[in-house]
This record gives sequence, C-alpha cells and structure tokens, in this order.
Amino acid sequence: MWSKGSIFILSGPSGAGKTTILNLFLREDRNSRFSVSYTTRKKRPGEVEGIDYHFVSREKFEDLVAKGFFLEWEEVHGEFYGTPRDEIFEYVEKGIDVFLDVDVKGALKLKGIVPWAVLIFIEPPSREELLKRLKARGEEEIEKRLERINSELEAKTLFDYVIRNESLDEALQRFKKIVEEVRRSHGKDNS
Ligand code: 5GP
Repeated sequence: MWSKGSIFILSGPSGAGKTTILNLFLREDRNSRFSVSYTTRKKRPGEVEGIDYHFVSREKFEDLVAKGFFLEWEEVHGEFYGTPRDEIFEYVEKGIDVFLDVDVKGALKLKGIVPWAVLIFIEPPSREELLKRLKARGEEEIEKRLERINSELEAKTLFDYVIRNESLDEALQRFKKIVEEVRRSHGKDNS
C-alpha cells in the first residue's frame, strides 16, 4: 500500500498539447497539484503569475540555481525553466499527486533523480498540425521549436506511456485512464 502521492511528468514537443491536457485534467481532479515551474521567458497573453509559471529575471533564476532551489532546470529555446524541489515532495508526503510539464531532457533527468515518477510522452499528431498550433502562438518561436522536435520524438521510447494527441478529447480520456491505472497499482483510488 502506497500512502504517498505520485509524481506524473508530462513531456513532449512544444505544441503537442501537454499543457492543454493537464489544465483540463486538473480542473476536474481537484486533489492533485500542478508543479508551477520558474521561467525567465516573457508572460504570454492570458498567463498568470504563480498559476502558469513564476516569471523571474535571469538574475533571480541564477540565484535560485546557486541556492539549489531546483530539482532540475534546463535552457529551452534560449530561456531558463526550473522545477522547484521542496514543494513537490511536501505534496507527495501528504499523499497528494503532483503533475509536472517539462521538456524532454528535463523529464529524463527527473526520471534519473526520482525513478518512481511516471513519465508520459504527449506526441503531436503530425508535423503539419504542429506547425499550425505553433503559428497560432507567434511566428518568431516556430523555427527554434521545430529544430528540437526530431530529437525529442526519438526519446519517446524511454517513456512509460505515450499518448498520441490526434483528438484532444481522446488524448484526455487516455491520460485519465493512465492516471487511474497508476493510482490503482499504488493501491489508491482518488476518484
Ligand atoms: P513554454 O515556453 O511553451 O511554456 O515551454 C517551453 C518548454 O519548456 C515546454 O516543453 C515545457 O514543458 C518546458 N518546461 C516548462 N517548465 C519546465 C521546467 O521546470 N523544467 C524543464 N526542464 N522544462 C520545462
């Protein structure tokens, strides 16, 4: 019997839909928590400080790195992103499941640090669809993001689960099933 919370790490290329899937899931699954990362990138329209990210300066980020504040951190598309260490384990100790949204390198790094974390890869449907989604976010980011995709897709075999996000609804249902399966295997049923 596992009385602690689980750690679910969602990863995959930008635009694959991991943030959307997670937001929809967490809206219903009120007992779970999203691990809010720190980033040096600029806030996008609609994003809220402390909900989507903690938006910090480069100086502040480097200070936090030096203090050992992050469980892992990565440079993604020229900006820094980091997962705060302590709050994740505080939740887990209280029996609360924690969900992370990180890049592929960060996900594999985390699996090395926390081997019992569940790694879920969200795969975009096609390059064309991905391009369409990235364009909707702003032209200048597209080239940088596309460059990474091939190497990110290669890493999917290292993940515990892969969800192909062809239709958002089906991807969300599959995600829910995976979470239920993990909870059952830990002797827990949070539904
Ligand atoms: P975006 O700028 O689109 O929000 O995120 C860019 C990438 O950074 C995404 O793949 C996202 O999952 C990843 N990311 C967000 N937070 C973290 C983090 O704390 N650590 C790592 N390694 N990647 C992160």
